[in-house]
Amino acid sequence: MFTIKGKTTDWELVIGLETHIEVLSNSKLFSGASADYNPTISPNTQVSMVDVAMPGMLPVLNEFCVEQAIKMGLGLNAEISRRSKFARKQYFYPDLPQGYQISQPAEEPPIVGRGWVEIMGDDGKQKKILIERAHLEQDAGKLKHDVHPTKSFADYNRTGVALLEIVTFLDTKNPENNSYISSPDEAERYLREIREIARALGVSKANMEEGSMRADINVSVRPAGSNEFRTRTETKNMVSFKFIKSAIEYEARRQIEIYENGGTVSQDTMRYSQADGTTSVMRSKEDALDYRYFPDPDLLPLEISEETIERIRSNMPELPAATRARYVHDFGLSEYDAARLTETTDISKWFDAAVGNNPKRAKSIANWMISELFAHPENWDAKNALDTSEQGTARIITPSDLAELVDMIAENAINGKQAKEIFIKMLDGETGTPRAIAEKFGMQQITDTTAIESVVDDVIAKNAPQVEQYKSGKTGLLGFFVGAVMKSTGGKANPTVVNELLHKKLD
Ligand code: ADP
Ligand code: MG
Repeated sequence: MFTIKGKTTDWELVIGLETHIEVLSNSKLFSGASADYNPTISPNTQVSMVDVAMPGMLPVLNEFCVEQAIKMGLGLNAEISRRSKFARKQYFYPDLPQGYQISQPAEEPPIVGRGWVEIMGDDGKQKKILIERAHLEQDAGKLKHDVHPTKSFADYNRTGVALLEIVTFLDTKNPENNSYISSPDEAERYLREIREIARALGVSKANMEEGSMRADINVSVRPAGSNEFRTRTETKNMVSFKFIKSAIEYEARRQIEIYENGGTVSQDTMRYSQADGTTSVMRSKEDALDYRYFPDPDLLPLEISEETIERIRSNMPELPAATRARYVHDFGLSEYDAARLTETTDISKWFDAAVGNNPKRAKSIANWMISELFAHPENWDAKNALDTSEQGTARIITPSDLAELVDMIAENAINGKQAKEIFIKMLDGETGTPRAIAEKFGMQQITDTTAIESVVDDVIAKNAPQVEQYKSGKTGLLGFFVGAVMKSTGGKANPTVVNELLHKKLD
């Protein structure tokens, strides 16, 4: 459990995230204008009359965006509403020419209802984070204040592009149910999981740097071990994992300090400063905007048939949670290892390629990947390693390289120490397969019992005092003899055979 030390007590965190992902689609949510708004495109060239609210223009719901939302909903293990509605959320801002954003009202079922996402908790065990809802809405335009010294400009290319907002659920009726995000690291793992699901489904690029994924963070604190839910604050529009973690921690410490000084936290909307990593009040609850939601008279309720849902469901690829379950059940991996190997779809594809049709390899491959390859990203970039054998100057280790190395150990062709040497040579740029490298450097393991036996006899003859001590009960000396045999074979002897022979001769 992640806690922050206070003056008299430890504090724990309760975190709720509202995550916006930009829906991948050719056209916008309610118009035919292109939904591609990337910065190389000239401002205001992908804007339809609907997007800028010309009188008499009517929105037409983009069916593809609806299917994308259903797909994501199924990826979140969520209920899909057979009927949902669109409403106008009204506010004035220059990036919003309609004077309102078409969204789905909080009081009514959104297109995606209750669901869950599985993440690795801070204890290394898998943990379900409950989802309250996900709804479709329009994105706003972009204001540019840095083009002219005295003027601001509006670019409406992004206006009306479809967003899906995914909101985590806080089960206040079952507070002992630990199914919400409770640390900055868990928040990051949750967002990464959302990103991988969205990418695997082709629903969104979910790229924070590009702005196709952004999050509002709700944070409250409470004394460690208590089950209460205290007042939260909300920090809006966070666009990097680093800032999100820093904002959560800063905000939690700010609230703790207020409580420790006898104060109360008010439900404010905060702004985060990237420059110094602090949060400060942007507007208080009393100043909260009243959006005067009302049903959009131009849009019929959205009805989705069971067939549509089933058709989409039957075309879903394997998602990270299912991949993890497969690794645990089919390969006997720990939950921790399964989580590490599914951090991105590229990593799990790499792992699957290395295991191939030989599940017996899986555990060793997992160990080598997690303890060695992850430490050398320059030598195996998961994305490129699958389709190219070279990248930059580093020698790329491919799935088949690692499979071969692991097979050589299993076949007793080399021992673990030699495998490590071959691995290091590959990191250092040695080309060729592990078998070829073993051959080139004469790293074949000695398994011939007669050859090893003569070395064992020699070691025993030369170390009479230690043999004496061993026989009188100091069996811990076995390692000494193993070491001596390995040394005089240049590290090539098969350790299992060495152990067997020593036991036979000494016991
Ligand atoms: P609003 O209607 O003000 O947007 P919601 O009830 O929709 O509020 O909640 C927004 C987010 O805040 C959700 O992810 C929810 O889980 C989270 N949240 C609600 N209460 C708390 C709390 N006490 N501490 C932390 N997060 C909370
Ligand atoms: Mg809300």
